[in-house]
Amino acid sequence: MTTDLWVEAHAYLRPVADLCAQVDREAAAIAVLDARIPDWDEYRADFLAGVPLLLSADARVDLEPGGRMAAALLERLAAGTSQALLATEARALEAELRREPDIPRRIAASLMGDETIAPAFPGLLRYLGWTAMARFLCPVVSAFGEWRDEERWGRRYCPTCGSLPAMAQLVGVDPGRMRLLSCGCCGTRWQFKRTGCPFCETDAQRLMSVTIDAEPGLRIDHCESCGGYLKTYDGQGYETLLLSDWSSLHLDLIAHDRGLKRMAASLYEFL
Ligand SMILES: [Zn+2]
Ligand SMILES: [Zn+2]
Repeated sequence: MTTDLWVEAHAYLRPVADLCAQVDREAAAIAVLDARIPDWDEYRADFLAGVPLLLSADARVDLEPGGRMAAALLERLAAGTSQALLATEARALEAELRREPDIPRRIAASLMGDETIAPAFPGLLRYLGWTAMARFLCPVVSAFGEWRDEERWGRRYCPTCGSLPAMAQLVGVDPGRMRLLSCGCCGTRWQFKRTGCPFCETDAQRLMSVTIDAEPGLRIDHCESCGGYLKTYDGQGYETLLLSDWSSLHLDLIAHDRGLKRMAASLYEFL
């Protein structure tokens, strides 16, 4: 399954697919700045205490270069005179941010939850910011995945950035079948118990599944106690496409029609 075939079969996804492709193209043209790989021994105590990597003062991951990449991405999208919505909003956002001192650091802080910058297009900033930041963090996320003992994390939020999962994936076959949660921001995937809701604090919840006839590889798992839902990719091999979140926006509509709640922030809310 390629992105083209997927979009052909889901024509309503065309606008978002085109927009993502344009942003990805611009992001790919920006040089990836070096990220320092943390000293894992220094981070270990925080890891065991459940502190996500980027929030750990001991891990000391500097996000400023990622913020610089995000600012460069915004600048590229804002350049020119195109009247398309993305270019117009990017221009407004860029003009607004330019008034702030130390933009890269402010962008990085806002991605980590700092609300002192409140731009007119917060969704666009989050989307562009995380697109660039995820590229910057890629070597850190992969080194972290190699170092991390999944059994010792098992938490409901992302071990790297602390976000709630945007999607889940079921991999392998029994008895080794397991569920991975997928971060919609930094792209980390981590292991979580097979049943059980990642949005409830308590353990006493039941997960129900909604399958969609036309989409055998995707389903919606939802929790009877909190009403939260998690889009789930049941398969392997097409992670880039099927865990991208935008490729299953139609499942969000189905879930919404059933009165279910999306708990994780969506990078595509601004569309
Ligand atoms: Zn994350
Ligand atoms: Zn729940």
